[in-house]
Amino acid sequence: MIPSASLLDEPNLNASIWVALPPRKPSRVGCAIRSCLAIGARNGPPLQDRRAATALVTIWNARRASGRELWFYPTIGAAIVAGRPWLSVMCPACQMIGEVDLRTLGRHPGASIDSLIPALSCRRCQPHPPFVKLLGLSAAKAWE
Ligand SMILES: [Zn+2]
Repeated sequence: MIPSASLLDEPNLNASIWVALPPRKPSRVGCAIRSCLAIGARNGPPLQDRRAATALVTIWNARRASGRELWFYPTIGAAIVAGRPWLSVMCPACQMIGEVDLRTLGRHPGASIDSLIPALSCRRCQPHPPFVKLLGLSAAKAWE
């Protein structure tokens, strides 16, 4: 049976489905991706990748800001490479705004930012908060 809870709510998962998985070892690919995305990396991603990531995030931000349909979500890695690692979210129930620095999350850079929605649910609106609304990606904290 596939658990209905998100992977972020690990205590709620049915542990029996995870027993068969081998223990996790850090992979060289994962380490290479992390070091490539790390702040202050020597060379960082190639200029071509930074431009592509910036264009992608710019398009997503513009579509999001204008209320147009979102046909895609940037990955965490694309947001970081684009230099816009701050994700702003809003609780649709209480209008509370929050921000998260994607660089600080222990998530795979290939995960799309919408995969974070369940984890970013409003704590004020517990026990049944609505899913947060993604507001945009920015280079620095947009809200103080
Ligand atoms: Zn709320």
